[in-house]
Amino acid sequence: MTHRAINFYAGPAGLPLPALERAKEELLDFAGTGMSVMEVSHRSKEYDAVHEEAISLTKELMGLPDNYKVLLLQGGAHLSFGMIPLNLMRGGRKADYIVTGNWAEKAAKEAKLVGGDNIRIAASTKEQKFSRLPFADEIKLSPDSSFLHFTSNNTVEGTQWQEFPKANVPLICDMSSDFMWRPFDVSPFGLIYGGAQKNLGPSGVTLTIVRDDVLEMCEAQDLPSYLRFKLHAEKNSLYNTPPTFGIYILRNVLAYNKSLGGLKAIEAANRQKGELLYGCIDRHAGFYKGFVTEKAHRSLMNVDFFLPTPELDDQFVKEAKKNGMVGLKGYRDIGGIRVSTYNAVTVDNVKTLVDFMEQFVKTNG
Ligand SMILES: *Cc1c(COP(=O)(O)O)cnc(C)c1O
Repeated sequence: MTHRAINFYAGPAGLPLPALERAKEELLDFAGTGMSVMEVSHRSKEYDAVHEEAISLTKELMGLPDNYKVLLLQGGAHLSFGMIPLNLMRGGRKADYIVTGNWAEKAAKEAKLVGGDNIRIAASTKEQKFSRLPFADEIKLSPDSSFLHFTSNNTVEGTQWQEFPKANVPLICDMSSDFMWRPFDVSPFGLIYGGAQKNLGPSGVTLTIVRDDVLEMCEAQDLPSYLRFKLHAEKNSLYNTPPTFGIYILRNVLAYNKSLGGLKAIEAANRQKGELLYGCIDRHAGFYKGFVTEKAHRSLMNVDFFLPTPELDDQFVKEAKKNGMVGLKGYRDIGGIRVSTYNAVTVDNVKTLVDFMEQFVKTNG
């Protein structure tokens, strides 16, 4: 059998094995074409079926109502950071941003390049080093804003909004690192976006979901074509050559997710993984110290913790690697350990890690 690492990388991250095996089987002869999917026209009926299936599976898995469009774009979350204000802030519109981490801060900074003072920071936990989310009474929304932007999962710091912030304007959300980790009510959301490379597929595809009324807010005829959400929606994400191979892999992942029982089943597995991992951290609170200060704000996608010394952190990473587990080193600005437990990480993978953590306390605690 092929050797497979137990992959805890933060992104790009592990993909479900069946989605990769399907790609392997179909690589040289995709849909009877005698070509790989990378080698056929994006206007061919064979590719089109994949494109449509990726879109319809997204709608089905997320339970999207008919007034939402699914776009398959490029440029990662970074390009979206700019496209959102470029499309939505015309006519002096204003927006609120909640800053809860490295990526949320970047989103606000990029938006300010476009919107200047029309971008208001409704809340920030930077003073707390982003070790928690803002509490409801710390969020100050402006009455004249057109949307509220936030980041559902803070990939670097390991916090996650279990309950989304409330506003009476459309929510715009960067879901790069927790897209489809569970079912949720999309109705307060006007636009959701994220690079596929954490929870959904390879890098190069930016999955974007946009509600019709928000699309109508995009008055951007003078923007370069690629930057216009409306154009992509009108052309069903086939305005130019889409990232066909990435979309193909995304399709394989989504089809696999459906076969597991959809987002409800995926959520159950994610919660079980969280209980195992946080259970171990809490049992050995004198040895494993979590970064996040509010238990209710803990992420089920990225789990940050420290060992008693940086030397022990390093030793932990090294020994884990010897045991087949990779990607555990914390983000450079924070240090310590980060365990990314995206959808493709199995409950068994986490059990293996927790067994290792238990053993590590025994020998080094
Ligand atoms: C990784 C990440 C990004 C950056 O994504 P790119 O696709 O590299 O632009 C942005 N936001 C969040 C929440 C992320 O996890």
